[in-house]
Order: sequence, then C-alpha cells, then structure tokens
Amino acid sequence: MTSDFTKMLLHWNKLRNFRKMPWKGESDPYKIWLSEIILQQTRVEQGWAYYELFIRQFPTIDKLAKAREDQVFKLWEGLGYYNRCKNLIHTAKKISLEYKGKFPHTYEEIRNLKGIGPYTAAAICSFAFKLPYAVVDGNVERVLSRYFAINTPVDQAEGKKLYSQIATNLLDKIEPGIYNQAIMDFGAMICKPKNPLCGECLFADDCQAHRLGLTQTLPVKSKKIVKKQRWFNYFIIGEGKDVLVRKRGENDIWANLFEFMLIETKNPISISEENEEQFLKQHFGKKSIDILRSSKEYKQELTHQTVYIKFFHFTNLPVESTVGYKRVNWKDLKDYAFPKPIAAYIRQEAKT
Ligand code: SF4
Repeated sequence: MTSDFTKMLLHWNKLRNFRKMPWKGESDPYKIWLSEIILQQTRVEQGWAYYELFIRQFPTIDKLAKAREDQVFKLWEGLGYYNRCKNLIHTAKKISLEYKGKFPHTYEEIRNLKGIGPYTAAAICSFAFKLPYAVVDGNVERVLSRYFAINTPVDQAEGKKLYSQIATNLLDKIEPGIYNQAIMDFGAMICKPKNPLCGECLFADDCQAHRLGLTQTLPVKSKKIVKKQRWFNYFIIGEGKDVLVRKRGENDIWANLFEFMLIETKNPISISEENEEQFLKQHFGKKSIDILRSSKEYKQELTHQTVYIKFFHFTNLPVESTVGYKRVNWKDLKDYAFPKPIAAYIRQEAKT
C-alpha cells in the first residue's frame, strides 16, 4: 500500500518540482550511469557541463570503451577522485566486450560492475529499467531522518541498513524512478542541509524533526574524518619553454594524471637564500641551479586528505634527477590531464 508520505511526495513532484537537470527523465542506462558517476564528485551545476561534454564526445558506451584512456582522463580533469574515472573506463570496456555494448538489466549484474555501488545500481535500475530499488543518498537520508526524527548515525552500518529499509518501504513500486528522483530533488530544494524550508514544506504538519525542533541536529553523523596532511612541492624545471612532467602512479591520489617534478614533505618547506644550496644538494644532488621564484601555497581539500601545494620555478635542469619524467613544451601541456590545482596553475601561468 502506498504510504501518505509517498503520495504527498509524488503530488509535490508533479505540481511543484521544477528542478531541471539534463539527465532527468533519461532512460538510457549509459547516460544515467555517467551522470551518477559525475555527480558523486561534484555539484549539479558543475557536473552538468561535464556530463554534456562526455555525452557529446562519447555518445555511446562503445565510443567510451574505445577511446584513448588519456583522452578520457583529460575530459575528467577537474572532477578529481580519478579512481572513479579509471573504473568508468574499465566498466565501459567490460560492457562493450562482455555485454556487446548493452547495459546489463539486473541489479546484481549492475552492482557487480567496477565503480558501481548500491546507490548508483539503484539509480540505474529504477531510472532505466523501472526496477523497484530505492536510492539512498545524502538527500534521502536527511529527509527520512528529519521526517521520522531518527537519530541513528547515517554513517554507520546500522544506520545505513535502517535508512535503506525505510527508503525501500516508502518506494513507489510502480514508478520507482520518478519517486527516487522526487525524494532527492525534495532533499536538495526543500529539506536542505542548513536551512530547510519548513515554512513552505508539505510535510510540516507530520515531520517529527520540525515538530520537535530537531531540524538542525538531524541527521546525526558519528565519525569525524581526521584528514591526513601532505605538502606537495612542485619544481618546474626546464630549459627554454620545456618543462618536465610525469604520470603519477596507480596507488595514490590523482592516479594516472600528470604532474611536475615533485618533492613531497611532511611539513611546509621554505627555501631561503641561506638554505637553498643545502636544499638543492639534498634533493637534486646538484647545486648549480637557482630558484627564480615560488608561488603562494594552494590548498586542496580531498575526502581524506588535505594537500598543500607550492610551485617553485628553477632555472635549469639537474640531469641526474630526471628519470621517469618527460620533457614537454609549455604550449603542449594542455594535451595532458593534470590534477585540478596543477591545471589551474598552468592556466594562470599562461596568462602572465
Ligand atoms: S518540515 Fe522541514 S525538516 Fe521536515 S521534511 Fe519539511 S523541510 Fe524537512
């Protein structure tokens, strides 16, 4: 039996949900998958542009599967969390080869694809195939925890299970895709994280958090992430207009993206005239190079790490330190996929 909550939400969706997104109403599982993977990483406004670029360049999953990996990484540049991009490529190839380019149709098969968790699998199943799987993202957890005044932490196994059960009970089994999109839109537009619009909310009379004055304290999170701090010192060393770049390894942040010559330290470094010689000798084994200038410190917040980045410009090349790097002209750097802060710095340098 359809609950009052579900009926009211669908009614709101029909009459008052004007949230637009390019993938809304989409039934192509490839496009839904792409949009969900992009949206895990960014806000809708920014994700929209990336989604359109990807669809234009790779209109089908076969086109994405056959693309050069560097080309896909370049398009992904700026979205961060590059493992998602790696998984995207891997899964596109798998579907292209093993499923002849057709997205699998069952929850279990979709869930088994690399990079597809329960949320994305439920989104693809319900939007593309009308299968009765409830999505549970941050928006859904917030709406449910407030409506029912649930204080079980959303970031623990018990909470995950509970929210998933409630979401499944409330799901409209006939139009699961419409219902899923509606509750996410409602969370994003009305039951917002900081200032929910309770005054204009259709649930105001029934919502327990609103009645009990708990909207600011729900949902509850138990964990506080202690972020690791890292200092990346990039040395832009080149002769004329060439610089040295290398591809980062597989097992760290920004996997497979390019970067300049890196020295990572546990603390910020400052290279003064007095310690310059010692520093260069320690890191490059050579002291006949000079620092031309250094940038300010940039800060990049990742989910589990904070990376502080500084760029140092040197005059010439310490030959013995270049193993693994390749020489690229500044004007050709645009062809390489860099992590967001490095790409921004290159753009900024190009303007000066
Ligand atoms: S009354 Fe407020 S807290 Fe409750 S569902 Fe509506 S917007 Fe969210």
